[in-house]
Amino acid sequence: MLNELKNIEKIKINEFQNDLISWFKNEQRDLPWRKDKDPYKVWVSEIMLQQTRVDTVIPYFNRFIEWFPTIDDLAKAEEDKILKAWEGLGYYSRVRNLQSAVREVKEKYNGVVPNSPEEIAGLKGVGPYTAGAVLSIAYGIPEPAVDGNVMRVISRILSIWSDIAKPASRKIFEQAVRHLISHEDPSSFNQALMELGALVCTPTSPSCLLCPVREHCQAFEEGVQEELPVKTKKNKTRHVELAAALLFDENGKIVIHKRPSNGLLANLWEFPNVEIIHSLEHERGKVVEQFHQLLDLEVQLEKAIGQIEHVFSHLIWNIRVYTGEITSVIQESEEWKLVTFEEMQEYAFPVPHQKMFKLFLEQKK
Ligand code: SF4
Repeated sequence: MLNELKNIEKIKINEFQNDLISWFKNEQRDLPWRKDKDPYKVWVSEIMLQQTRVDTVIPYFNRFIEWFPTIDDLAKAEEDKILKAWEGLGYYSRVRNLQSAVREVKEKYNGVVPNSPEEIAGLKGVGPYTAGAVLSIAYGIPEPAVDGNVMRVISRILSIWSDIAKPASRKIFEQAVRHLISHEDPSSFNQALMELGALVCTPTSPSCLLCPVREHCQAFEEGVQEELPVKTKKNKTRHVELAAALLFDENGKIVIHKRPSNGLLANLWEFPNVEIIHSLEHERGKVVEQFHQLLDLEVQLEKAIGQIEHVFSHLIWNIRVYTGEITSVIQESEEWKLVTFEEMQEYAFPVPHQKMFKLFLEQKK
């Protein structure tokens, strides 16, 4: 047994499982992906829930399942449509990987999500957490599903002081869950740990007095629950200044551009924009020059209608938003389009660009 797990011997495992699972059965939230144990739906929900809050995911999940009810439907779907379904959720590579993996399931496994840890972990975008979640929730296999939430809960229950920001620490927590997990009901056990982390054992101010496993919790006994988990800070966030413009042609159509097929927000649509390296370039004449030099667009800008900040995990965009006219002829292509407001609905835009359009509509009123 790892030294970090020495406290596991203090836990009465059967009682711990019972306390945790009965609490979950009484208190669990009514979430659409809990309605049945279809492995495809569990998988979709787990991918959506990575880095995204439950409340945000619910309407996306419902629409996604309505548009792509089966593996077959998702495998056949056009990329534009899946991006549209994901529009606003962020981390778009998640849905592209999901589609590639679903296609592999269709071709290699006859459309049935595999139930062996090796096969499922071999699918694109399926990391150890997602594999464990699908195997335990959909197939009742006692595999750990360890994400940041579960690491926090376990680090407190067993008073583990390993840094959860270090990838190597995951193994310690997986081993802990392997010891603790119920073999009768691994599905409820893993979901209960996640639910406890979401509702009770929260990052700051855990509600220990309401906690169903308080009697088993080492951190509570030692009074150190607020100090755990240990998590070192990530690298500093980078700030990027951008100027973006909603540009119209003489027919009132708006210019949109498709982002490159790799990198941040790949293949999503956006309003033309340029990076502002020196603050001087924020002056309107300079922005016009940059549009010409970097995007080959001749434009006339009217006024700046506002400023938008968008925070990614490692990056912050500060965008000054302009309106204006396009004065050169646009050659429409795969990457550049002139569209009406109605046609715009067909294209998937990332959140900061949706915010820009909203800002424009508000100013127009
Ligand atoms: Fe978390 Fe407190 Fe419960 Fe321990 S007692 S698991 S710290 S909520």
